[in-house]
Amino acid sequence: MSETVAATGSGPEVRSGGCLCGKIRFTVTGPVDDPHICACKDCSKRSGAPFQWWLGFAMAGLKWTGAEPTWFDTHPGKTARGFCGACGSHIAARDYGDGMVIGILATALDHCATDLALVPTNLNRLAEAAPWLAQYDNRHAAAG
Ligand SMILES: [Zn+2]
Ligand SMILES: [Zn+2]
Repeated sequence: MSETVAATGSGPEVRSGGCLCGKIRFTVTGPVDDPHICACKDCSKRSGAPFQWWLGFAMAGLKWTGAEPTWFDTHPGKTARGFCGACGSHIAARDYGDGMVIGILATALDHCATDLALVPTNLNRLAEAAPWLAQYDNRHAAAG
C-alpha cells in the first residue's frame, strides 16, 4: 500500500474545510467515525447528486472558524442539515438532542481526495439511487 496521508505523529488529527465561496470555514479534531455514502432521497434531493459522502466527528472537536452554516430541518425536531446560504455548498448534519456527533460531508474538507481515512466503508441505501449506480458498484467490487 502507499503511504497514508494523515501522518499525525503524536498530535491530534485536525482537518480543515469550508464551502465553495469560503464564507463557511471550520476545523474538526479527532478521528473520523463511520465514513459512508448515503443515497437516500433526502441526500440526493438536497445535493443534486445521486449520493452524499458522510463522515462523523466528535462535536466537541468542531470549530466554526468562518461563518456557520444555515440550518435546514430535514425532519423538524429530529435532524438538520447545514449549508452555505451564499454558494449552496452542503457542509454538515446534526441530530437534535445529540450533542456528541457532528456529521460532515467529506466534500467540504480541504483534502478529502487524498485522505485515506475518509474512504467510505458503507454504501447506505444505494438501491435508492439510480439503478446504474448499483450496477457500477457491483462491477467495481468484482474487479477489485
Ligand atoms: Zn459558501
Ligand atoms: Zn441520506
